[in-house]
Amino acid sequence: MSEELQLHEQGEKIFVSIRLRPLQDKARNRICDWECANNDTIVFKNSLPERSMFPAAYTFDRVFDSESNTIQVYEEGAKHIALSVLEASIFAYGQTSSGKTYTMRGITEYAVSDIYDCIERQEERDFVVKFCAMEIYNEAVRDLLSPDSYPLRVLDDPERGTVVEKLTEVVLRDRDHLHELLTICEAQRQIGETALNETSSRSHQILRLTIESSAREYAGAGNSSILAASVNFVDLAGSERASQTSAAGTRLKEGCHINRSLLTLGTVIRKLSKGRTGHVPYRDSKLTRILQNALGGNARTAIICTMSPERIHVEQSRNTLLFAKCAREVRTNAQVNLIMSDKALVKQLQRELARLEKEMRSLGSASVKGDTAGVLREKEKLIGQ
Ligand code: ADP
Ligand code: MG
Repeated sequence: MSEELQLHEQGEKIFVSIRLRPLQDKARNRICDWECANNDTIVFKNSLPERSMFPAAYTFDRVFDSESNTIQVYEEGAKHIALSVLEASIFAYGQTSSGKTYTMRGITEYAVSDIYDCIERQEERDFVVKFCAMEIYNEAVRDLLSPDSYPLRVLDDPERGTVVEKLTEVVLRDRDHLHELLTICEAQRQIGETALNETSSRSHQILRLTIESSAREYAGAGNSSILAASVNFVDLAGSERASQTSAAGTRLKEGCHINRSLLTLGTVIRKLSKGRTGHVPYRDSKLTRILQNALGGNARTAIICTMSPERIHVEQSRNTLLFAKCAREVRTNAQVNLIMSDKALVKQLQRELARLEKEMRSLGSASVKGDTAGVLREKEKLIGQ
C-alpha cells in the first residue's frame, strides 16, 4: 500500500525497453552495429566518422539482445505492468519488420495466461473478463471482432472518457474463448492487409482486456464495490512513417501518406516528457484520444521499442532510440479504479453531503468573498449530484 501511495504522489515513469531483433536470414552476412553492453545499455559499436555527433551508448530500463526470447522480454519488460491490477498498457514501437507484432503476440499470450492464473487462484473474488479489439488505419477505427468494416466513431463520454461507439465487447467464458477471439482478430487484420496495400505497416492495433472483480461474500447483496483493471496491448504502425513525415514537411501537405496518429503520438510523448506544462494535443489523432489515459493519465505503461540490427536501418534505429529516450521521461499517475455499486455510492454521497452541509454552515457565518462564492457554487453542484 505504501508503494501505491508513493506512486500516487510522485507519478511513475513509463517503463521503456529495447529489443534487438536477430539478423534476418538473407542478411546474415550483413553487419550489425548494435550491441547490448549489459542489462540496460545498448551501444552503437561502429564509429563511422559522420556519426560521431551521436551518442554511442543509450541507457533504458532494460535492453534485450537478439538472443533474448519473448518470454524474457515479457517477464522483465512487461509483466509487472500487465499484472498491476490497474489501467495498464503495453506498447510496441519500432520501424516495419523490426519485430513489433512478433513481440506483442507473445506478450499478449503470456499476460493472458498469467491473468487467468491469478484469477483462478483468487477464490474469494468473482471475476468478469471482457475483451475488445480495434484497428486504426488512416484515422478510421475498425472493430476487429465484427465482420463489418465500416469505421466506428470516437466519442467523449462524460463518465467513461473517450469511447469507441458500437465497439464489440465480449464477456469471456474462459482463456480458450480469448484464444478463439485472438485468432479472429488476426484473420480480420489479414483481410485488411490484402484489401489495402501496406495496411499492416500503417495500422495500429489495440487489444483491450478488462477485468472486473468483486468480493464473493457480498455477491448479489449489492453493497460491494467492484475493482476494475484493464490492459491494453498496442501494436503500433511502423515508425518510419513518423520520421519520414516529420523530416520532410512537404509530405504533410500531400495528405495521403501521413500517419496522423503516429505523428501525434510522437508529439504527445515529447510534450509529456517535458513535464505537464502547456497543451498536450491528445485530441489531434484517434490513437492518442483513445489511449489518452494510458499515455498521460491514470495508468501504468510499458513501451517495448523494437530495432532491426542491420546497418541499412541505422537511421531508423536511432530515431527509435530517441523516441524511447523521450518516452522514458514521461510520468503517469496510476490509481486503483473502483466502480461503486449503487448502494455503496449512495452511502458515500450521503457522507459527502453531510460533510459539505457542515462546511457550508461554518462558511455561512464567515463573510462571503469572491472565491468563497466560487467554492460554494462548486459544493452546491456536488450536492446536486
Ligand atoms: P513488425 O510488426 O515490426 O513489422 P514483425 O513482428 O512482423 O515486424 O517481424 C518481422 C519478421 O521478423 C517476422 O517474420 C518475424 O517472425 C521476425 N522476427 C521479429 N522479431 C524476431 C525475433 N526476436 N526473433 C525471431 N524472429 C523475429
Ligand atoms: Mg507488425
